[in-house]
Amino acid sequence: MNSTFAAVLDQMNMDYVDIGSPTMKDGPVERYIGSCLRHLVDDVCIYNQKKVEVETDLKEDPENDNLKFELEHIPLRSVPASSLDPNDGNYRVTYAADLENERGNPAGLFGWCFMCRLSANLYCKDTRVPVCSVDCKLKHAEELENLAKPPKTQEVLATTMYIDDALEIFEYLCKMSGKDTGYVC
Ligand SMILES: [Zn+2]
Repeated sequence: MNSTFAAVLDQMNMDYVDIGSPTMKDGPVERYIGSCLRHLVDDVCIYNQKKVEVETDLKEDPENDNLKFELEHIPLRSVPASSLDPNDGNYRVTYAADLENERGNPAGLFGWCFMCRLSANLYCKDTRVPVCSVDCKLKHAEELENLAKPPKTQEVLATTMYIDDALEIFEYLCKMSGKDTGYVC
């Protein structure tokens, strides 16, 4: 098996049936990437919903300066990227998104829980993800901790494999670079 392919499978904790025919069984990394993507989609939906709501109100009251301010300061993220600044107009906006997720749970102040999809009226100040409870905040911290651990099996082999892969990729990039510039490594 190609060592780069094996390393990727190992990193993503995926199983495979035979060479060249990977089965994408959900591993911890894959699941976490899925959660991040879902959270990104949540933020897009929440932003758009708030925009639609403010625009609708503004059509009825086009001279309302408060609504104009709201429209210009709708936050792109459901959770602020850093500690809340009381002078940051984006997070003083009063509109809540009137939206339900795929499970019929209404959006909370910060959208939906990163872990369980319930309404999130809290967020984790360390990881900046929306959560529904302290329990889910702790579960998320544990999930991150597990992801940061090295693979449990074949640790030595995996370490060597990653270095070999890195060298293989570096060599490939050098060759590609040489082709682009006309120089051959
Ligand atoms: Zn939760």
